[in-house]
Amino acid sequence: MAVVIADPIEYRSYCLQYKEKGFSIGFVPTMGALHKGHLELVKRARRENDLCAVSIFVNPTQFDDQKDLNEYPDHFDDDLKKLESFDIDCVFAPYPSAMYPRDYNFRVTESQLSKKLCGQYRIGHFDGVLSVVLKLLNLSQADRAYFGEKDYQQYLLIKDMVEAFFLNTEIVPVGIIREESGLAMSSRNQRLSTNGLTKAARLYFHLNESVRNNSSAKEVIQNLLGEGFEVQYVEDFENRRFAAVFLEGVRLIDNVSL
Ligand code: AMP
Repeated sequence: MAVVIADPIEYRSYCLQYKEKGFSIGFVPTMGALHKGHLELVKRARRENDLCAVSIFVNPTQFDDQKDLNEYPDHFDDDLKKLESFDIDCVFAPYPSAMYPRDYNFRVTESQLSKKLCGQYRIGHFDGVLSVVLKLLNLSQADRAYFGEKDYQQYLLIKDMVEAFFLNTEIVPVGIIREESGLAMSSRNQRLSTNGLTKAARLYFHLNESVRNNSSAKEVIQNLLGEGFEVQYVEDFENRRFAAVFLEGVRLIDNVSL
């Protein structure tokens, strides 16, 4: 059974005692509502480290839309059950007030990549992500931290932040886990209807098709996806094609290699 810790300072002491014994620490940050995508990260962390810690924290500062935050799924007890079979050592589940004791007065700001792709539309989102990940990495003192390529822009930014601030953690990318339909697994998929879930798989299909046909135009992809979808952007960056769309009021993101 994993120990569950809410207090940041207690969590830091917990990690430190193992670090001092020479244990390697693998850390997986999540916002809960765990699915097979998250669990793939957990599997890797378990396999590659002596101690494996998972955080469950719905970080308020990374939500640019209050409604999205309010509607974010909360399945804490289920999440703990899911984690049981992975033999992890510790779950860190803090309260927002404990993670932000000085409100949000201190934050990490990035001025280049965080303004592109999703950052053009989600103002302040990546500052919130970077700020909370810096706190989590400082507390965990992890040798390795695991991030999904589903949020590829986030992975790149965290890798750059770790380098910029000389943090002693290796950032390990993990490939995208998909439903059989091709839909990238996401906690937000739970908010789609059965019909929406089927439709959502078109995003991955048509992103790949657009790469094959050499057409990245937003209008073309909007047409291919058909009714119900609102394409926010389709853009190529660092040998990948990124897209964000809305379906049934849910924002879906995906990316494919070019
Ligand atoms: P979240 O709970 O959405 O903040 O995600 C926590 C971590 O899980 C992030 O590093 C995500 O990129 C990763 N993740 C979420 N969905 C997937 C997926 N379908 N495949 C791989 N990694 C994922």
